[in-house]
Amino acid sequence: MSSETNHLAAQLARQIESGGPISVQEFMRVANAAYYGRGDVFGAQGDFITAPEISQMFGELVGLWLADIWLRWGKPGRAYYVELGPGRGTLAADALRTTRTFGFEPSPVFVEQSAALRALQSEKIAGVEFAPSLDDLPEDGPLFIVANEFFDALPVQQLVCTHAGWRERVVIRDRGERFAAVPGSQPMDHLVPPDFRNTSSPSIYETCPDAGGIMYELSGRLAVQGGAMLVVDYGYSLPGLGDTLQAVKSHKFADPFENPGEHDLTAHVNFLELANIARIRGLRVSGPVQQGEWLVSLGIDARTAALARSVPDREEELRAARHRLVDSSEMGGLFKVLAVSSAESPPPAGFAPSKVVS
Ligand code: SAH
Repeated sequence: MSSETNHLAAQLARQIESGGPISVQEFMRVANAAYYGRGDVFGAQGDFITAPEISQMFGELVGLWLADIWLRWGKPGRAYYVELGPGRGTLAADALRTTRTFGFEPSPVFVEQSAALRALQSEKIAGVEFAPSLDDLPEDGPLFIVANEFFDALPVQQLVCTHAGWRERVVIRDRGERFAAVPGSQPMDHLVPPDFRNTSSPSIYETCPDAGGIMYELSGRLAVQGGAMLVVDYGYSLPGLGDTLQAVKSHKFADPFENPGEHDLTAHVNFLELANIARIRGLRVSGPVQQGEWLVSLGIDARTAALARSVPDREEELRAARHRLVDSSEMGGLFKVLAVSSAESPPPAGFAPSKVVS
């Protein structure tokens, strides 16, 4: 255990001791802030690997997707590439290198809470600006927003069905600096949609208020300033019951309530809710479709073949990466892609209606 983590566990233990249990949502918020505050946690040597870290092809196809919208839209002048939670900055580097080849050079603006990651990102992307909050995003041009594995890191509120009704799931101190999740004492039935309310215990219903808030803000911006947003994540398009909170450390699952700040905490993303918020704000919604379908329709096979021709030594590695990103038993089936865009921008590529998953 690192001293920083001991520090967080001790601090949470003291906080719970004096102030009582904290919500799962609060626990996830502070644990993830500490976790990403550590800096580079990604890749084969780190805790988990994301699509842009598997292959440059992922970011390149995102760049192609953005450039295609920009070109068919008649090349609007001042435009911004906004990325939420850019990690190492790999996706931005690959995407922006690709947009440049089409003459599209949007100014990069990142939304990143971790100071350590901001430092890494500044080294990778020349001239990048950071928006400390969504209010600080530029207002004078269309926004091209990308969020890969960002929404799943936002804290979820968990409601748990007990014999006495629905309660918020809260975190208590177990022993020493160990924690456990239990039902809280306040009735929370009003927060559970009627369809799910009369279920048998011990079901869990999750919501992500931060995700809804961010989607609402950004959709409002897109409606006024124009542009498009691409959300890639694992999640569901039909709401249901279940506990999706998980912790990953060194590519293995861990107990989410142990060692806060030591591992990545994620929860599945509610794509239906994100889509509905964008619709309410007057945006066009495309998808969600499976990541594999989306990458194939944007030409990942042609890109794999082209790269393999130019670097024959890497052919096997490229085919393996393509398989991981596309195959329905791998990330291709696990991850979904949703786009929302302003009504006056052209419909985005890669979202054939027959491929939409419900
Ligand atoms: N998009 C990257 C990294 C995904 S990990 C990739 O695909 O490789 C999640 C990222 O979101 C990290 O950069 C993390 O620091 C950032 N993040 C998590 N919660 C955040 C929040 N509330 N505000 C801003 N950034 C956040």
